[in-house]
Amino acid sequence: MNHRTAVIGAGLSGLAAAFRLAEAGHEVRVFEKSRGLSGRAASRSREGCRYDLGANYFTISSNEMARLVFQTLPTEGLTRIVGGILPFDRGGKILPGDGDRPHGSRWTYRDGISTLGKLLAARGGYPVENGVRLTRLERAGTRWRLEAEGGPIPGEFDAVLLTPPAPQAADLLEASLPDGLGGLDGEGLVAALRGAEYFRQFSVVLNFEGEFTLPGDAYALINTDRGHDLAWVARENGKAGRVPGGQTLFIVQMAPDWSSHHYDDAPATIVAEAVDGLGSLLGEALPSPVWSDLQRWRYAHPRGAIDLEALRSAAPSGLYFAGDALVGRGRVAGAIETGFSAATAILGQGAHR
Ligand SMILES: Cc1cc2nc3c(=O)[nH]c(=O)nc-3n(C[C@H](O)[C@H](O)[C@H](O)COP(=O)(O)OP(=O)(O)OC[C@H]3O[C@@H](n4cnc5c(N)ncnc54)[C@H](O)[C@@H]3O)c2cc1C
Repeated sequence: MNHRTAVIGAGLSGLAAAFRLAEAGHEVRVFEKSRGLSGRAASRSREGCRYDLGANYFTISSNEMARLVFQTLPTEGLTRIVGGILPFDRGGKILPGDGDRPHGSRWTYRDGISTLGKLLAARGGYPVENGVRLTRLERAGTRWRLEAEGGPIPGEFDAVLLTPPAPQAADLLEASLPDGLGGLDGEGLVAALRGAEYFRQFSVVLNFEGEFTLPGDAYALINTDRGHDLAWVARENGKAGRVPGGQTLFIVQMAPDWSSHHYDDAPATIVAEAVDGLGSLLGEALPSPVWSDLQRWRYAHPRGAIDLEALRSAAPSGLYFAGDALVGRGRVAGAIETGFSAATAILGQGAHR
């Protein structure tokens, strides 16, 4: 009988894990609560513009990531971002130097950063079941059964890989207590996942008529002392093929503290604050945007380390974890690497059955 894995979450960690498992001939099914692929590496289209709402770019942090992006997956549409990233301080003063830690080129795709997840799923050839929110796990002998909002998922699985942001994975495990997790220390696992805090963050998208640039023709500005209400401003025109001529599209990410304090504010209030903050950074009064878009990320970035030992203790029972919480930092490349590591561990389990 084939070794069967259920991957919960079609973010990049889950899709990368499923890719590796499918490549090795394992049977894998991915369940995703939303309608899309790529999770927080999200892209959206509006009025001829295509923009990245969550992760703005990815970097190549390992040979494995380089092989995946430049050799295994098609490179058509892969785009290197032009322009640097300048730092600014809490007073809005723009400073010289690279505001982001130097780590080589920054990459995305012409059709949006979510292309990375779409390529992983298409090349992997495994099914992704969208619109399926998992609500409970149940250990059945040596296998797992899954329940979703719409009812039980038919079939049983040898391994389950949980990739939602840690607080959501904790909710899922908590709902499986007291007896769904077999002999596992469910409360210990929930406590470990709850230990991983996440920042909230707003992404505000502002479309202006006319050409606006950032100082020094930078691609983006980043607040490095974490004292400003704006954390990040990027000019989406720095990505080839994204914004029609005669328009400028800015992505403004509000600071985590500001986003937490204003989480339930009306969109107009948040957009007005983003326009004001951007105007004062650029030293000019900006016109009203032609249109704007807003995404509230409840779980934007993990805040620090998680108890990896506690999570690994579940592996002998076929329960695995991946996602950026395991690296303690919101990074596309890091999330993908956790997916690959989880797949290696699951393949090891399959080999010993
Ligand atoms: C505003 C913002 C800016 C960022 N900027 C950058 C950047 O410039 N560069 C960079 O490298 N990284 C950046 N990041 C971080 C990067 O996006 C993440 O680290 C990475 O995408 C996380 O991938 P993941 O697979 O761990 O999680 P996710 O992408 O969150 O995937 C988890 C998936 O699980 C699904 N899910 C959750 N619960 C359930 C359930 N019960 N049932 C089914 N499915 C479920 C979710 O819908 C989601 O699709 C940014 C993130 C944000 C939010």
